[in-house]
Amino acid sequence: MLWLLALFIALWVFFYFTTRITWVTAVLVLLLGAYTATYGLTQNHINLWVGLFLFFIFLNIPFVRKLLFSRWIFKLMKGALPPLSQTEQEALEAGNTWWDAELFSGNPDWKKLQNLPVARLTDEEQAFIDGPVETLCAMLDDWDITNNRKDLPPEVWNYIKQQKFCGMIIPKHYGGLEFSETAHSEIVMKIASRSTTAAVTVMVPNSLGPAKLLLNYGTEQQKNYYLPRLATGEELPAFALTGPHAGSDAGAMPDTGIICYNAEKVLGICLNWEKRYITLGPVATVLGLAFKLYDPDHLIGDRENIGITLALIPTHTPGVSIGRRHNPLDSAFQNGPNWGKDVFIPIDWIIGGLEQTGKGWKMLMQSLATGRAISLPALSVGAAKFTCRNTGAYARIRKQFNLPLGEFEGIEEPLARMAGETYILNAARKVTNAALDNGEKPAVISAILKYELTERMRRIVNDGMDIQGGSGICLGPRNYLGRLYQVIPVSITVEGANILTRTMMIFGQGAIRCHPYIQKEMAALQQNDLRQFDKVLFRHIGFFVHNMAAGLWLGLTDARFKIVPGKRDTRRYYQQIARLSVGFALLADFALLTLGGTLKRKERLSGCFADALSNLYLCCCVLKHYQDQGCPKEDAPLLHWACRQSIYRAQQSLLAIFRKLPLRLLAWVLRGLVFPIGKPYLPPGDSLTHKTAKLLLADTPARDRLTYGIYINNKADDATGRIEIAFKAVLAAAPVEAKIRQAQKQKQLAKGDPFRVLAEALSKGIITQTEAGLLTAAEQAGFAAISVDDFSPEEVTS
Ligand SMILES: Cc1cc2nc3c(=O)[nH]c(=O)nc-3n(C[C@H](O)[C@H](O)[C@H](O)COP(=O)(O)OP(=O)(O)OC[C@H]3O[C@@H](n4cnc5c(N)ncnc54)[C@H](O)[C@@H]3O)c2cc1C
Repeated sequence: MLWLLALFIALWVFFYFTTRITWVTAVLVLLLGAYTATYGLTQNHINLWVGLFLFFIFLNIPFVRKLLFSRWIFKLMKGALPPLSQTEQEALEAGNTWWDAELFSGNPDWKKLQNLPVARLTDEEQAFIDGPVETLCAMLDDWDITNNRKDLPPEVWNYIKQQKFCGMIIPKHYGGLEFSETAHSEIVMKIASRSTTAAVTVMVPNSLGPAKLLLNYGTEQQKNYYLPRLATGEELPAFALTGPHAGSDAGAMPDTGIICYNAEKVLGICLNWEKRYITLGPVATVLGLAFKLYDPDHLIGDRENIGITLALIPTHTPGVSIGRRHNPLDSAFQNGPNWGKDVFIPIDWIIGGLEQTGKGWKMLMQSLATGRAISLPALSVGAAKFTCRNTGAYARIRKQFNLPLGEFEGIEEPLARMAGETYILNAARKVTNAALDNGEKPAVISAILKYELTERMRRIVNDGMDIQGGSGICLGPRNYLGRLYQVIPVSITVEGANILTRTMMIFGQGAIRCHPYIQKEMAALQQNDLRQFDKVLFRHIGFFVHNMAAGLWLGLTDARFKIVPGKRDTRRYYQQIARLSVGFALLADFALLTLGGTLKRKERLSGCFADALSNLYLCCCVLKHYQDQGCPKEDAPLLHWACRQSIYRAQQSLLAIFRKLPLRLLAWVLRGLVFPIGKPYLPPGDSLTHKTAKLLLADTPARDRLTYGIYINNKADDATGRIEIAFKAVLAAAPVEAKIRQAQKQKQLAKGDPFRVLAEALSKGIITQTEAGLLTAAEQAGFAAISVDDFSPEEVTS
């Protein structure tokens, strides 16, 4: 028994430290030698020695290993792996990997995250946010825009163009603003906290669209012509990819371009297309069009089927039909279909010229690799901060059963969720922007941000709607949340619809991109390189057995001895992430090993992997953000809520994966390794929920930090200005209210009509005239804040 234990410990140590195979063999020889010396040489010992000899030969002599093992695995995998289509291959090659690869490694290098410089705005960027962005926000009246005009007012359009809001990503030498990704995100976030219509209008020219594609791939001539015009809004761009038959599967578009000569013998393309849902389409002056290019007469080369290509088409080109509008959930940003019938364009309208023909999909994927992490995440954080600030204040202003709504335990739960989730969203936004500004182009993280931030924003706004009750439901100029709630599905659907992003893209791409060995193995398979495959495969096996040993050790000790950064309040979270990251890496390998190419179709399983990876990433962002902000003590409830929630959800996702894995017995063994003593992590408890919710009910620096960067005003005739005024008035009057309540308890004052109680309290000297003034102001401001709009029957039907 002792010998078995010694063998188990020896193997565990080897696996944990991924010891060289020669050392393993040497120690096994010593162990077996000592065993034989103790008990003498029996037939069993001889068998063991023979086994060990074979083991030695097998593992240490590459030729034997390849012949007996790797060759067979090579054949098996070649047969099992479905060939990647070109579009899949190009999606996989887009961008790079960053912290996602660290999480996949099972042993994140924390220095990489800690040393990431904090995202900062330049003075010029800050001045733009304090100046033109503030002015633009003040010009926006969302109700007027969405209900009356169904468009931005002309003066807003002019201001957007004049201040170069459409040219944030365009370099200065082309006349743009040349802002960082951080500034871009801050600007979209602030505008989104005022009007989603305006935010989407500004977002589109700066995200995936003609300007970005020109910057990355355009010819000098195209850049020199278009970029200065796009920067000043002289040209309004739209990007047209989606059509009736090609939504999520955009690569399946039936839109065609045939290389031909026109009547004047100019070499060009004859285009036919039908697109829909195109943002800014109805007002665009230039379309970035995606189509499939064919060259049946071999006018530019040997290939007939050239592939997806992108071109810039002025919308006045003969044959282009444009101008009709969709109505995207009553939001007023310009969106509509467009068509082209036998539209002839010269060949040099292709973005990047002839050199870029057939490379459209790659160009799109490369641009999405970063773009997805900026616009919609910024919009989502703007919406989340806005809901926290205003609905949090509303929960303090609005009273039922003689208490502010926010003081009921039932309301505390959604309030805490809103605050904690907003903290997570903002942390992810800031840290990811810092990475982008640092030159990273993390495609998988970009997809995580798009999916997680829009989904979580949806939950935050839903919670806000529940707390607002009727005041969120009855639309009108006073309602600041209803329109936001209405338009949420737009962000869920665009730039990769969320279900698809979660179940296909995050882990689907991540498993191959971020895994330390899979991509190298696939490359060796594709190149038929058995030698390279054998080398990588054995490192991969070492990685797997290391994770088994590490999983058990970290599971038994709950990673308490793992060396990680952080202080007293954060160290345990770092350790828990390290532990779950090993579990994640182990399960990912097991799933890849057992399911191979069919994993692509197991979307439920892939979705759980995506959830686990996303929650681990978000938790890392929270820790980094807390550190970047100087670890403010008052934010501790937000930090703890965010970390506990993320770690709990990552754990639950891993448990869900265990339930979905094939080979049940082995899956149970793995579960025993990763969670040897049950489920260790719980979601935020009642006391933490209470402390987190309270942050939204008081005028504190923590609340200001949480909602920093959105548009705030104190105008009495403004939907949110009214809330700011009432919130401050109600808080100022709170001590006076407490005095009155105390007097009522002591039977010095009767209960009943508030104005009669106030008069009596004043006459009896319980409160002073100034205090009475505070109370009256709070009553009036509070009533204005909880009031809702009504309309004449004619107004409703007009
Ligand atoms: C308001 C708005 C603005 C837009 N702006 C633009 C624009 O400017 N330019 C442009 O080119 N396009 C634009 N789009 C198009 C947008 O990108 C597409 O709507 C999106 O790609 C989804 O396509 P679809 O609506 O046809 O949905 P479908 O592709 O029909 O998908 C429907 C649902 O099925 C899910 N689904 C699809 N395939 C899978 C799968 N394999 N596994 C799991 N789930 C799957 C999706 O996630 C989605 O939930 C816009 C759309 C809207 C609504």
